[in-house]
Formats: sequence, C-alpha cells, structure tokens
Amino acid sequence: MSQSKFIVRKVAVLGAGVMGAQIAAHLVNAKVPTVLFDLPAKEGDKNGIVLKALEGLKKLKPSPVSSKEAIQYITPANYEDHLHLLKDCDVVIEAIAERADWKADLYHKVAPFLGEQTIFATNTSGLSINKLAEACPDSVRPRFCGVHFFNPPRYMHLVEIIPCVTSDVAMLDNLERFLVTTLGKGVIRAKDTPNFVANRIGVFSMLATIANAEKFGIRFDVVDDLTGPRLGRPKSATFRTADVVGLDTFAHVVKTMDDTLPEDPWHAYFKSPEWLQKLIAAGALGAKTRAGIYKKDGKMMTVFDPASGAYVAGGQKGDDAVKDILKIANPAEKFKKLRESSHPQAQFLWACFRDVFHYIGFHLGGIANCARDVDFAIRWGFGWSTGPFETWQSAGWQQVAGWIAEDIAAGKGLSSAALPAWVLEEDRAGVHFDAGSFDAASGKLIGRSTLDVYQRQLAPAKVLGETSAPLGETVFENAGVRAFTTGDDVLVVSFKSKAHAIGPDVLEGLNTALDIAESRFKGLVIWQTEEPFSVGADLASMMPAFMTGDWEAIDTAVCRFQAMSMRLKYSQIPVVAATQGYAFGGGCEFVLHADRVVAHLESYIGLVEVGVGLLPAGGGCKEFALRASQEARGDILAALKDYFMTVAMAKVATSAVEAQEMGFLKKSDVVVFNAYELLCVAKSEALAMANAGYRPPLKVKGFPVAGRAGAASIKGQLVNMLAGRFISEHDYYISGLVADVMCGGDVEQGTLVDEQWILTLERKAFITLLQNPKSQARIANMLTTGKPLRN
Ligand code: NAD
Repeated sequence: MSQSKFIVRKVAVLGAGVMGAQIAAHLVNAKVPTVLFDLPAKEGDKNGIVLKALEGLKKLKPSPVSSKEAIQYITPANYEDHLHLLKDCDVVIEAIAERADWKADLYHKVAPFLGEQTIFATNTSGLSINKLAEACPDSVRPRFCGVHFFNPPRYMHLVEIIPCVTSDVAMLDNLERFLVTTLGKGVIRAKDTPNFVANRIGVFSMLATIANAEKFGIRFDVVDDLTGPRLGRPKSATFRTADVVGLDTFAHVVKTMDDTLPEDPWHAYFKSPEWLQKLIAAGALGAKTRAGIYKKDGKMMTVFDPASGAYVAGGQKGDDAVKDILKIANPAEKFKKLRESSHPQAQFLWACFRDVFHYIGFHLGGIANCARDVDFAIRWGFGWSTGPFETWQSAGWQQVAGWIAEDIAAGKGLSSAALPAWVLEEDRAGVHFDAGSFDAASGKLIGRSTLDVYQRQLAPAKVLGETSAPLGETVFENAGVRAFTTGDDVLVVSFKSKAHAIGPDVLEGLNTALDIAESRFKGLVIWQTEEPFSVGADLASMMPAFMTGDWEAIDTAVCRFQAMSMRLKYSQIPVVAATQGYAFGGGCEFVLHADRVVAHLESYIGLVEVGVGLLPAGGGCKEFALRASQEARGDILAALKDYFMTVAMAKVATSAVEAQEMGFLKKSDVVVFNAYELLCVAKSEALAMANAGYRPPLKVKGFPVAGRAGAASIKGQLVNMLAGRFISEHDYYISGLVADVMCGGDVEQGTLVDEQWILTLERKAFITLLQNPKSQARIANMLTTGKPLRN
C-alpha cells in the first residue's frame, strides 16, 4: 500500500493579532475548521483577546472573510484552558509577536500537546527558523518549518515555506500541497536567511527608493506617482505602502535587517531615516493613526516634507518628460532613455532600478534557490506585475549589467560591492530560460517543482524568458475567441477581446465553438487566459447603431445575446464557466446560464447594468425571475425581492461564496482557491457531468410570476427610497422598469409565463432605456471615464 494520505481536518493558529486572525479567517474561508489561540485575557472572558480579534475581522476592509458566515468556524481559545484542543489539529501555525524568546517559551508550552503527525510552522517574518527549531523537542523538529504569509493573507498570493535543517522532506511537500490547493497560495521555498526572499528584496527596494529620493531631492508624493502603476506596481507605490504597513512596523523590519545583516554590503542603508524616527516618536504611524507620511488636512491630502519637517500640500505628480519615458514599450529603449536623461526624476528612477538589480545580482546565490523564486516572491508578495530579474532581462541583460558595473566603478551605486562573475559572463542573456531559472549557488538552471500538486496547474504563472506558446492545440479561432483542446474530450474557449468584453466576434466565435463541441467533444469550458472573466457586453460595438438611431439593429444584437445565453443553458453538452475577477453584466449572464460554474474565490460577479442606465437584457432578469419562482414557497414576491434589489442596486458579490449567497452561483457550483487550478477543475467538472449522462435541462413550460401587483408593491418601496433620497429620479425610473420585467409585465400575479416571455420584456425595456437621454449620459460617462455616473 502507498503511504497514507495527508489530510488536514483542523488547524490551530497561535496568536490572534493582525496576521493570526486573518490567517484563521482564510482557513475558514477554505472550509478548514480553525482554533484560534491567544493569551488568556487578564480580565473578563479568558478568550477576550481572541473574541476582540474576531470582532475586528468583521470590520476590516477589504474583508478577510469570504462570507460573514465563515467566522463562526473559528473556535476561540486560550493557552490556559484549551491546549488539549491542539491534539486534533493537523497543522499548527504560530503567529505571535516577533520575539524569539516569547516564541521559544510558547513552543515549550504547546509541544507536549501537539499530535504525533502535526505540522508545526511559524509565520515569523525574519527570525532564524533553525534557531527557533532549537526550542522544539527532538520529536517535533522534523515537523517544524517556517510558513510566511503576507498581509493581507486572503489576498496576497505568496507564502514562503522555509525549511530548517531538521525539516522532513515529505512534511514540507504535504504542507505545500495544502497551501497551494486548499488555501490557493503561490508557494516558494526560501532559504533560512534574515527576512527570507520577498521582504529581503522588497524592503531593500523601499530603502533604496528612500535613499535615492533624498539624493536626487524628489518629493515623496512625486516618488509615489513615479513608483506605482507607472512601473506596474501597486497604487500605494512606496511611501503610501509604508503608511499602510505602519511606520513603526516598517522601522521594526528595518531594525531587524540592521541587527541581523551586519555583513551585507548595503548595511549602511538598513537604518530608519531621522525624519521617519521623528514621525514615529510623534505618534504618526501611518494609516492606523491617520497621520504618517501622508496626512489629511480637511479635504486636502498633505505629504511630509523632510527638509522642513512639516506637511505640505500633496498630490504633485512626476514630470511629463519622465512619464513619457516610462510609457516607452520597448524596455531596452526605456532604460537607455532613463539612464541617459539628465532629469533628476529620471536619474532617480534609474538609480532605484540599478540598486535593486545590483542587490539581487549580488545576493541571488545566498538567499534564493533560483531567480524565478525572486521574481515570484516580489510579484506575489509585493504586487509588482513584473519581477526585478524579469525587468532586467527584458531590458537586455548585457546592456544593463554593463551600466551597473560602470555606475559602481563611478561610485554612483549605494554600494561598491562588485557584481558576481556570473552576472558579467559574456554569453549571458539572462536568468530565465525554457530549461529553468538560474541558481547562482550551483550555477545551474532549476526547472519547475515536480510536486504532484502542480499538475493541476495547466497554465501556471510564467516568468518572462519562458516561452509562452498558447496552451493546447487550436481547434477554431476567429477575431473574438480561441477554442482549443489539451488532448481530452473537452473544448476550451477563451475570449480575445479587451477585458473579455462580449461583442459580435465573441458571440459568433462562441456559437461556432458550441457547434464544434456538440459534434466532437463531451463538454465546453469557457476559461480566460487571465482575469477578468468578462466586463460584460461590448457597449462600444453598439455605438454605430446607437449613433444613427438604428434601434432595429440594436434589437437584433440583443436578441443574439439572449440566444447565446439560452444556448449555453440548453446545448447538448455541459457548459462550464470558469470565473476569476470581474464577471459583470453580460459576463454575469453567461455565468447564470452555464450548466456549472467553477469560480475562483476572488470572483466578483454582478449585474451592473443599472450603473450604466440600462438593465440586464441577456437573460439576467429572466434567470433571476425563474430562480425566484422555483425557490418560492407560495409567495413569489418574497422570493423575488432580494434578486430584485441585487439588480436594482447593481450589487456585486465580493467573493465566489458571497455570489452563492446572492444567487449568482448555485450551491452546486464549485469554488476554487487557486486561480491556476481553475481550468483543470472546470474540465474535470465538464467531463464528470458528461460521463454521468448529461442531458440539457428541460425547458420550463410555464413558471409563475409576481405580475403587476408584485411590481406595484416593489415600486411602493422605491417611492420611499426616492423620498429618502437614497436613489435618484432616474434610478427610480430604471428600477421600476426592472421590477416590471422581473415580475413578468402587465399580467395577473401567478400567471404562468415561459422564459421567452421575459426575455422579450427585457429587450423592450433595454431599448426604451437606451433611448433615454439620462441613460445615454451614463453610458457615455462609462465609455469615456470608466466610472459610473449617478444622475
Ligand atoms: P501582532 O502584534 O498583531 O499580534 C501578535 C499577537 O501575539 C497578539 O495577539 C499578542 O496577544 C500575542 N502575543 C504577544 N506576546 C505573546 C506571548 N509572549 N505569548 C503568546 N502570545 C503573545 O503581530 P502580527 O503582525 O500579527 O505578527 C505576528 C507574527 O507574524 C510575527 O512573527 C510577525 O513577524 C509575522 N508577520 C507579520 C506580518 C504583518 O504584516 N504584520 C506579515 C507577515 C508575518
């Protein structure tokens, strides 16, 4: 018999602080019952600290829980009364304050209570795992390692697993499987060096940015304007990120680097600048104290100016000349221009890149198993769209390496440490290749992990430099879609349009794909190569007909859309929609009509048409009316009301689980935690349905609707909302039309209608709204600014 399977029945988290509470939340998101421990409260309920933390979880934004229901599966506990609960936990994660002595004390306390096979892991940000292991008894050491989550743990993809010398290899593999599939994380294995991989480089990048901002005299708001989305990094860029993390926490991490990395050639920069220390001493700790590097002064955002020691009016942007350089698509040209420019902001940016390249080149062999791990760590842990090695390689390895060496020689870098020989090898084209990514310690290329869990990732994350040929074999392609097979009985179709908007080409392509799938395959999966699933109907494609007032052409287009939705539902093969990111409007309607949805947890599904002055007319109103009638126990209107509000308020589910609660997804739909596993799960669902003898649903002959009385009752409530100014006149008008459609129009309550009946109502109301000037203003605003207009 093969070795028994590793099953995680229950997990314990020790420490209910910022990280512990949120890790527990993500565990229960993933349906893993969790015991959350903290110290016994000195007064009142002994679980007081944990209970307070659980309350805190409900208020955090963005929400750490995928549904309010989840929190009840976290069991509060304290070390005095509940240590016996640890016995049943297959994984125990320690996340108490960052003090080695406190952690060691706790390990002594809990070790006797751990189950014989329990994995025991610490979430430390940077303490030595091997040192911490010494506080574990011999019997526990093989099951001990680091498991470093990033804040906020639900949303940050990265988890670093840090083995210690005694860690059992099979244990580490089991932990990785659990983190990847159950919790949906992107795992890299890190070496036991201070701050591991992501923070070591990410925090260095922030320190280098701070040092260069001072050197070139760049204001902090300008730094943030230049080092955020313009470089493919988060909006919070550099200084706003420090505010969000907390200036005290940031200073603490820097202090750890100062204490633990005395030999690092950049050690002189592992210091909190004087101005930062002063802010902290004054209690300006960032977002949590409402003042930090940024501070709101009335309506005005102000920014700290270290020269004067005061806050000044903020919001200054980088110079156009520099921003223009950043827009250059060719990386080699962009970096050349940045380096050659005499503009201080350009020199500042080049210096920031150069110092990070210098740092990662110098340290690669010491801190990471290969360059791919560095890039994934920074992408998944710091939210950069491209990792630093990828950026370097794309700009031309040799050219950039030469520039760095020149700058070092000229004393321009933050350190004079020589670049390692491998960086300057004559034939080196980079660090990422099809055969693997470079490991500076062994001088070899390291391929992908062969752990079985990664076989579930049919389209894994790639690094630049790896060939990214389209997945599978193309079966059919037009301007709107590509349909392909990965060698089994399922046809997969992906949209090629921007944000996967659904226009005529997508509809035509999808129809052809369905024809092919019905004749040659067992099932069809709609899966996108990256998020979003779809932002909805391509409004821009309707513009010409709209401008000329060709309502007939628009009616025909809407008809086609509805026919597509109906075909997804009634085709002869199972259709599975695999969602991640936004599924709005028409995208949501496809989701509603698929036979099954396989949804990544971070799927944000909603019928948002009201926001652009329209109503769902691709079968969304119809499907909700039908579902309400099927769920109603006598009272159709009662069952319809929530569905109505969801449409009328253009509500968007903030997770796949919430989408199930709101009725966008069915209970039978599947929630997947790792986006890279979506396609694998969606295909297996399609095959399972087909192999179970799939038959399309029978068309409902007639279902009861709430009728004109139902619509009148809803409108009565809308009047109140209008009077209370919760909605505008035009909202009231649109919502009234939505109510009419969802209630089945001008018929008696309980009248039996078929799906086509409501589809026709949808279409008529849609055209009516399209002709309305206020709705037209909403559409125009969305198309030009990308934002909803409330008129
Ligand atoms: P925190 O200060 O929010 O919470 C720490 C918790 O530890 C508190 O609930 C406290 O009651 C408990 N605690 C304090 N002293 C204790 C003791 N002697 N024995 C038992 N419990 C004790 O800290 P945090 O930010 O959640 O960090 C927890 C761990 O996670 C640290 O090791 C930290 O380095 C690491 N980490 C933090 C972040 C982050 O962004 N905050 C990110 C990754 C990892």
